Amino acid sequence: MPGFEIFGAEEKAQVLEVLDSGVLFRYEFAAQRKGVWKVLEFERAFAAYTGAAHAQAVTSGTAALKVALAALGVGEGDEVITQGFTFVATWEAILDCGAIPVFTEIDLTLNMDPVDLERKITPRTKAIIPVHMMGAPARIEAIKAIADRHNIPVLEDTAQAAGARLHGRHLGTFGAIGTFSFDAVKTMTTGEGGMCITDDETLWRRMSEYQDHGHDHLPNPGGRGGEGRSFVGFNYRMMEIQGAIGLAQLAKLETIVAAQKRNKALLREAAAALPGVQFREILDAEGDSATFLTFLLPDAARASAVNQVLREAGVGAVRWSENGWHYYPKWEHLLDGKTYCQGGWPFLAGGKRRVVYDPYGLPASAAIMERALTYQVPVLLTDEHYAKIAAALAKAARI
Ligand SMILES: *Cc1c(COP(=O)(O)O)cnc(C)c1O
Repeated sequence: MPGFEIFGAEEKAQVLEVLDSGVLFRYEFAAQRKGVWKVLEFERAFAAYTGAAHAQAVTSGTAALKVALAALGVGEGDEVITQGFTFVATWEAILDCGAIPVFTEIDLTLNMDPVDLERKITPRTKAIIPVHMMGAPARIEAIKAIADRHNIPVLEDTAQAAGARLHGRHLGTFGAIGTFSFDAVKTMTTGEGGMCITDDETLWRRMSEYQDHGHDHLPNPGGRGGEGRSFVGFNYRMMEIQGAIGLAQLAKLETIVAAQKRNKALLREAAAALPGVQFREILDAEGDSATFLTFLLPDAARASAVNQVLREAGVGAVRWSENGWHYYPKWEHLLDGKTYCQGGWPFLAGGKRRVVYDPYGLPASAAIMERALTYQVPVLLTDEHYAKIAAALAKAARI
C-alpha cells in the first residue's frame, strides 16, 4: 500500500501549480485561479480511469462512505450489512448515519461470504457494503445478484483496492457507488482524501450536494452565496492541494500495481515452500492490485509457530486475527457499545439498547483468520529484503 513509497517530483510540480495560483479551494475564485481546477480535474481523471460516469472527491475514505450512505438515503432505523474483516471506518460511517451495522462472515476470499449475506438480509436492510480488502475482490458478482433480487443497493468499499479489477472491470464500478481512500497507507495517497464513483447522475448530484452543505452548484446570478439547496448537508470538501497530489499519484497507479504484482509473485513463490500452505482465494489474478500476500497454515498453532520463526528473523507477518482495527472480535469498543454521547447514542436510543453484538458471532471467519499470515507487498522490494524473507520462510518450512 505504497503511494508514499514513490512520492516525488511529479507531486511537487502539481502542488506548485496550486500554490502559484494562490487558490486553495475547489469552488469559486474563477478570476484568480488562472484556469487551475485540480479537484475537478482529479475527479474527471479518476472517473475516466475507472470507467465510471461520475466521481465526487471528499476529505477521506470514511467521509466517502458517509457521503455515499447519505446519497442512498440511509438513516436511523436502517440496517447496513458489511463484513467482519474490514477497517473500523466502514462501520463507523454506518453508525454515524444512525443506522445499525450487521456483520457477515468472510470466506477464503477474505471478503464477504455471499451465503451468509443472504441469511442476514432483513426488511430493514437498506444497503450492503462488501469491502475489497487488501487489493483483491469480494465475490462482487454474486453479492450484486443477491442484492438485486432483494432490491438493495450495493456500496463497494474500495478503499484498499484502487487499481484492482475483476474480469477487466474496475472494483468500485459493480455497485451503485464505489468509495476509495487516499490516506497514508493506501495504494495511492493524497495525504488524506477520498473519492466516490457512480454511473447514476442522481446519486452523484446528491453526493455533490451533501459534501458541500447542500449547495446545488447550479449557475445563478448570486454566485455561491445564492445557490439553492434541497436538503441539509455537511462539509467534506477536498482542497486543491489534495486534488493536485491525486493527479500525480493517479498517473503512477498502473506502475505501482505492476511493481506490486512482480513482487507479490516472488513472495508467493517463497511462501509456497511451507508444508500444507494454502493461499487466499484471488478471483482474478490478472486484476489483483497485489498490495498484500496472505497465506494460510493448516491450523492456528502452526500459523503461530511459523510467524515466530519469521519474527525472529526480523520479518514477522501481520496476523489480522490479533489486530484491533480490522477484525470483529477485537472491536471491544463496538461490542461494548462505548460512545462519547451522554445519551448512549448510537448504541442506546430512549434508554434502550438498539443492538447487541456477540463476540463469537462469526465462527467461520475466526476459523480462517486464526490460520492466516499476511505480508504487505512493497513497491520497492530490495534484493536484500527479499532474500531475508525467503530465507526466513525456508527456515519456517523446516520446523
Ligand atoms: C482506509 C480505509 C477506510 C477509510 O479511509 P480513510 O481515508 O482513512 O478515512 C475505509 N475502509 C477501508 C477498508 C479502509 O482500509
